Parts: sequence; C-alpha cells; structure tokens
Amino acid sequence: MAKNYYEILGVSKNASDDEIKKAYRKLAHKYHPDKAGGEESKFKEINEAYQVLSDKAKRQQYDQFGRTFDQGGFSAGGGPAGGWDFSGFSTQGGPAGGWDFNFGEEGFSDIFSDIFGTAFGGRRKSRARTGQDIQVDVEISFEEMVKGASRSINLYKTVKCDVCKGTGGEPGAKEETCPVCKGSGQVRKTSRSFFGTFTQVVICDNCRGKGKIFSKKCHKCGGGGRVKDYQSINIEIPAGIQNGQTISVQGQGEAGEFGSSNGDLYVNVRVAPHQKLKRENDNIISSEKISFSQAALGDKIEVETIGEEVKMKIPAGTQSGEIFRIKEKGVPHLGKRGRGDHLVKIVVNIPKNLSREQRRLIEELGKL
Ligand SMILES: [Zn+2]
Ligand SMILES: [Zn+2]
Repeated sequence: MAKNYYEILGVSKNASDDEIKKAYRKLAHKYHPDKAGGEESKFKEINEAYQVLSDKAKRQQYDQFGRTFDQGGFSAGGGPAGGWDFSGFSTQGGPAGGWDFNFGEEGFSDIFSDIFGTAFGGRRKSRARTGQDIQVDVEISFEEMVKGASRSINLYKTVKCDVCKGTGGEPGAKEETCPVCKGSGQVRKTSRSFFGTFTQVVICDNCRGKGKIFSKKCHKCGGGGRVKDYQSINIEIPAGIQNGQTISVQGQGEAGEFGSSNGDLYVNVRVAPHQKLKRENDNIISSEKISFSQAALGDKIEVETIGEEVKMKIPAGTQSGEIFRIKEKGVPHLGKRGRGDHLVKIVVNIPKNLSREQRRLIEELGKL
C-alpha cells in the first residue's frame, strides 16, 4: 500500500511547491533525530515524501500512479518483484553504494545546512576562521570610577604572525593554485547519511576557500598566519562607568586565521565598593553624624567628597535624616557633560550616656 505523501507532509493535493517546502522544513526540524522529541522513522518518512513531492516529474507520477518509477529496478514490464520499496532511503535499505542524491547548491542543501548545521558539509568548519573574542574582568576603585582610570591588560592570545604578516606563507614563497580544488576554492563533498548519499559543494579545506596556497608554509606559524604571544593592551575606563559595565575594544581579541579579522576584547569592569560613599544614579550619597547641639545650634562640618574635603554649613534646627546637597561633587555623567551632586544625609547623634552636668542642662532645656 503506497503511503500518502500529502498526508505525511500535511498539505493538500494541490499544494504549491512553496507550501510543500515550508511544510517539509517545519516537520524536518521537528522530527530530526538529533533533536529532543525527534523521531527517526518519522523523519525518514518526511524525507521520502518530500523527495517525491518536491520533484515535478516524480510528483506527477505519484499523483497518477500512486508511486514513482525512477528507483532502481524499474523496467517497462512493471515494478520489481515484491513491489516498490520506498524504505530504500536508508543507507542500509538502498541499493549497494546508497542512493546518490545530488542536491547541488539549492533545494535540499539549504534545508540541510539549516538542519544539520556544520555536521554534514563542514562549510563553516573549513572557512578561515575569524578570531575569537576575549573577556577579561577588571576591578577599579570607587574613586577611579569617578575620575576615570586606565589599565594595562596583559593577555596571552593568538596574534598575527609577524614573520608572514598573517598570510601563512614563508616570506619569498610563491602563491600557487591549490591542487585540491584547482583554484576554485570549493570542492564537492559526498556524505552518507541514514537516508542516502548526497553531494554538497563545500569550501576547500586545503586552501580555506582562497584557491591558492603558498609553495612553502611560514616556519613560525606553520601556515595558520597566527601565533600565541603575550600582548599588553592599554584601555581607558571612562569616568562614570557603572559597576558591571563592559567596555568593548574592537579587534583586540584573538587574531583570525590567515589574516582574517580579529575577535574583540570585552573588559568587564567591576567597581569596588567605598567605605563611606555610595552611588545612586550619578549622585554620591554619604551620611554625616552631628551632635545634638550642632543640630540645634547649627555648625560648619567637613564632608569627605571625592577628591577633596568640603565645608558644609548645617543650619540651626537641622533634623535627623535631612539631606543636604553639595552641587556637582557627584559622578560625571558617562559620555556627557556635567556630573551629579553629593548628597549628605544628616544623622543626629543623641547621646546615650549623659554626664550629670549634661543631664542637668538638657532638663533645663526641657523646661523652656
Ligand atoms: Zn607565519
Ligand atoms: Zn583549495
């Protein structure tokens, strides 16, 4: 009994090629055996259905006869003894050597690269790789956060080879046509899978798609165009940076292969907490203790701000918890002009142990 391919793909009998392709893509993703919830038998069935319905001639045959006639063994006299075997899409079930589906550049190949990623063709694997990014953590003090800082970061990373300047060729060596791909930078690669064999055009491993190779590889880097080395990089940390913010430095990551682009450097900045000062947006907050009499009578106190001590006037009758503002002694606005303020929260110290004299005076005060 022939299978209903339309039902398998969940499309109508007059579905367009596009609808069929869409339905296939969706189901293949869903049932791919490498995925959670995947199902190999279902996946094979879907592939089988798509094989037929995506091909104009096969679809026509299928619509007309309920089967296709292009499989091995077909003769004018009819199908092979035992009927058609569509399970032949598996490597085991197919004819010796497997089915050879040549999907070329489009159609299946784009779907497969979608589903299988690099597992099959190795397309990404063989391209000259760009350098990886590097992440480093840096700690600065609260003061440095307010004033800005610079750091020299020492890295052991891949850098462009200085002998060949990243090309991978020994100085003086000639560039020759790659013997593997004959200069095209691409090779046809045949892969076997559980439903057959297919050919894909991939980037040449030998020359990494360049089509040319050097007659002699660089003695220092072995042809990769990069070597491991120590490098120190100066970075400027702008004033006003937030704790946990990351500075990215373009091109300062690992060097790319064969002179391809470098990765980036990411510097995660941690701001160490300050004993007395806190940040709130771009304001700096601190609290100052004053005595009962300072609060009642008023005074001038010294406040520690970043960079200097500031004299601040406390008016008579200041309440505990009152906040005073020292203008523009806060954190600079990051990337903008101006800066926040320093806010001083007053805490009035009520004495816990009074001397006899103090007690008498306060009692006097209470009578007034
Ligand atoms: Zn080199
Ligand atoms: Zn090549």
